[in-house]
Amino acid sequence: MTDIRSRVSEAEWEARVNLAAVFRLAAKHDLSDLALTHFSARVPDEPDRFLLNPYGLMFEEITASSLVKTDREGNDPLETGSPLNAVGIMLHSAVLDARPDVACTAHTHTVPGMALASLDTELLPISQTAMAFHGRVGYHDWESAETELDERERIARDLGPDGRALVLKNHGLLAAGPSIPMTWVLLFELERACASQLDAMAAAHAAGTGLDMPSASICVKTARQFDEFLAAPARDNDWPAYLEILDREDPGYRE
Ligand SMILES: [Zn+2]
Repeated sequence: MTDIRSRVSEAEWEARVNLAAVFRLAAKHDLSDLALTHFSARVPDEPDRFLLNPYGLMFEEITASSLVKTDREGNDPLETGSPLNAVGIMLHSAVLDARPDVACTAHTHTVPGMALASLDTELLPISQTAMAFHGRVGYHDWESAETELDERERIARDLGPDGRALVLKNHGLLAAGPSIPMTWVLLFELERACASQLDAMAAAHAAGTGLDMPSASICVKTARQFDEFLAAPARDNDWPAYLEILDREDPGYRE
C-alpha cells in the first residue's frame, strides 16, 4: 500500500498522517479497545469522503497509507480491498454529513466512557474540563450493534448543530472537532472529564457528601471560552509537539 501517497492529494496525505498520529496517541494513552473502535477524518478536498481505519489493525499499527478512503455508502474509490467496519461507516458518516464544520470524529469504548454512558445522569460540569463541554454534549440511546442506516438521522439529531461530543448510552463516547488536532484534544479532555466525574461521585458517595456544582452562568461562560480555544488557529501549534513525541518513539505512522 506504499503507493497510496502518489495517488492522493497533498491535503489528503497530510490528513492521513495526522489521523494516523491520533490513533497512535490514543493507543499510547490507553484509549483503544483492541481494534474495535474507529476514528475518521474528512478528506479535505473531497468533502463527501472520509478516512477510516480498516479491520485488522491495532491502533498502534495504523499508518497514513493503511487508512481507507470511503463515503457514506462504504465505497472504496482507491480500490484497496481493505475491510471496513459497517457500524463505523454509519456512525462517522452520520456526523460528517450533518455537520460540515466537523473535520474529524473519534469513537472510543474506554472504561470511563462506558461507565459514564451507563449512568442515569449526564456529564456534570463539576470541573473546568467538564465545564468546557457544558451544553455541547449530546446523548444517543443504544439501538443495537446492527447497522440501521436510519440511525444516522437520530445520531445527527442527538449531537445537534453545535455539539462537540456524544455520549453513546450503554456504549461509549464520540468526539467531533473542527480539525484533526483539535479532535484529539477534545477526545482526551472528554475522557478525563468522564474519569474525574466517576472518581468524584465515588468519593462523594464514600464520604456521604455532595458534589460542588458551579453556577449555570459560569458553566456557560467556560464552555464559550473553550469554543474560542478550539477556534484559535494558534492552538494547532501544539500539534507538532505531539508528533515529535511519536517521531522519537516510532515515526512509522507517517508511512
Ligand atoms: Zn462502538
